[in-house]
Amino acid sequence: MLRTHTRGELTAANEGERVTLCGFVWKSRDLGGLLFIDLRDRYGFTQVVFDPVVDSVLTKDAAALHGEDVVEVTGVVRLRPGDMRREDIKTGEIEVRADCLRVLSRAARLPFLVAEEETAKEPLRLKYRYLDLRRPPMQWNLEIRHVTINAIRQYLNSRGFLEIETPILMKSTPEGARDYLVPSRVHKGNFYALPQSPQMYKQLLMVAGLDRYYQIARCFRDEDPRVDRQPEFTQLDLEMSFAEEDDVFEVTEGAFAGVFRETLGYELPLPFPRMTYHEAMNRYGRDKPDVRFGFELTDVTEVCGESESAVFKKTVEEGGRVFAVVAPGGLSRKEADELEKLAKDEGAAGLAFFKVEDGGKLAGALAKFFTPALSERLLTVTGAERGDTILAAAGPFPATAEVMGSVRLALAEMTGVQKASGWHFLWVTDFPLFEEDPETGGPVPSHHPFTSPKPEDIEYLETDPLRVMSRAYDIVLNGVELGSGSVRIFEPELQRRVLRAVGVTDEEIEERFGFFLEALSYGVPPHAGIAPGIDRLVWLICGVIGIRDVIAFPKTTEATSPLDGSPSPVSPTQLRELGLSLDIDE
Ligand code: ASP
Repeated sequence: MLRTHTRGELTAANEGERVTLCGFVWKSRDLGGLLFIDLRDRYGFTQVVFDPVVDSVLTKDAAALHGEDVVEVTGVVRLRPGDMRREDIKTGEIEVRADCLRVLSRAARLPFLVAEEETAKEPLRLKYRYLDLRRPPMQWNLEIRHVTINAIRQYLNSRGFLEIETPILMKSTPEGARDYLVPSRVHKGNFYALPQSPQMYKQLLMVAGLDRYYQIARCFRDEDPRVDRQPEFTQLDLEMSFAEEDDVFEVTEGAFAGVFRETLGYELPLPFPRMTYHEAMNRYGRDKPDVRFGFELTDVTEVCGESESAVFKKTVEEGGRVFAVVAPGGLSRKEADELEKLAKDEGAAGLAFFKVEDGGKLAGALAKFFTPALSERLLTVTGAERGDTILAAAGPFPATAEVMGSVRLALAEMTGVQKASGWHFLWVTDFPLFEEDPETGGPVPSHHPFTSPKPEDIEYLETDPLRVMSRAYDIVLNGVELGSGSVRIFEPELQRRVLRAVGVTDEEIEERFGFFLEALSYGVPPHAGIAPGIDRLVWLICGVIGIRDVIAFPKTTEATSPLDGSPSPVSPTQLRELGLSLDIDE
């Protein structure tokens, strides 16, 4: 190595040693003739001192250095004078008196100052990601990511799991998003898909008898851009044979416990609490509830259905539901307008407001439809008190619960509610197997079509698919969905029935899933698995604002890479080789 020590290493114990350090020039200061330069590397900082009285030429050379120049410095370790000692950095007790300086590489004028805290705008930071990544907080994020993945590997290895890679070029697996396609040159007109997840492969590994599989798997989904979404992301993908829900929960909890121990020195309380999908929707209006604060929803369908309000009566007649949330201490006009707009934007017909006045009297546009006895019941059910405002929305379930879930979150934001501190993991279980496609009204898989229905509901697959419950589960942390999993279908005929239920024709079943169904015919261990997202987990642990801060080379929200300019046009020759021609407006 060109260096004898790294930047985080030297302490008072090294006093008097002659050392050679290499690193980036971080900051320099001229104090009373002495020139101080902080050298930086991944491990920390070390203060280097140049004294013009001892060597004026050397000090002049050092003064000419610029931030981010890469240098090699040799000198002797000295204790810093008492008033210059620092306890906040590892090398705060010492400094190196330089007697030799070699510039290994000069830094050109920088597009932004690396030593400044995030002053540069994100597109610039992403274009010069290799400079952005020099900043210590970014390096810390990547280190936490490494420790996270390492802890996962250690734990799963100790539990008998094998880490197995699956193809990146594959046949499309339906996970609900659009595929990224890769044209085949050898087989013109044919395409590989990048994996949305290794779902079918991991199940085939169970068919193969590998028993316990995991992979730190890269997944690709061509979805519409969103702030916290990346077109490629990393999952801890795992699958276990002869396993059921509790087995997957236990292993996942063990892996997370290892991660929190290694990254934050925190002992997670196990097991994680569980909540059914219906309870989550009814209480929080979310299938990934943030349970760190109250403002819970209440079901006021019965009370409102008995009122004289035509809206409420109609909703109840049509089998809809009415959900309420209480705003303690009431709302300003502006706040009420904002919440009403939010509810409408999310698809509600409107938001009803009932202000609770003296003596439990209700005020508001719909209050006249409630008799005093009914008003009192509304107060009892919601727990609202004088001065509070009850907000209610009516309509079909689960859409209306979701609207009120958004109102709940917005209300929490408005009132600056204090969220419970710490790490609140939650298993959400008992999801419906299908949900209604908003466009066609037909059933689509809530998770993916390989999820097992509950045995007692299988008989309704053809006649009433939306009532069929599944053996799927989600893992949620502080209101963020970390990942989903399920007990899988392992009988070919049941797999066919589920695919048919979501409108896949028999020909398509053979064409797209024939190989998989055939595999299910040769003796299959019942199996189950899960795939928590690594980016999201590390993002929460690091407590950074954007998920991109925990990914070394992320894409922008528009799925572009300012660093290398991808996606980018390719040459006509490349297209010809692939047998492709473009049909786009210039
Ligand atoms: N493949 C699923 C997903 O990516 C997870 C699973 O069911 O294991 O969401």
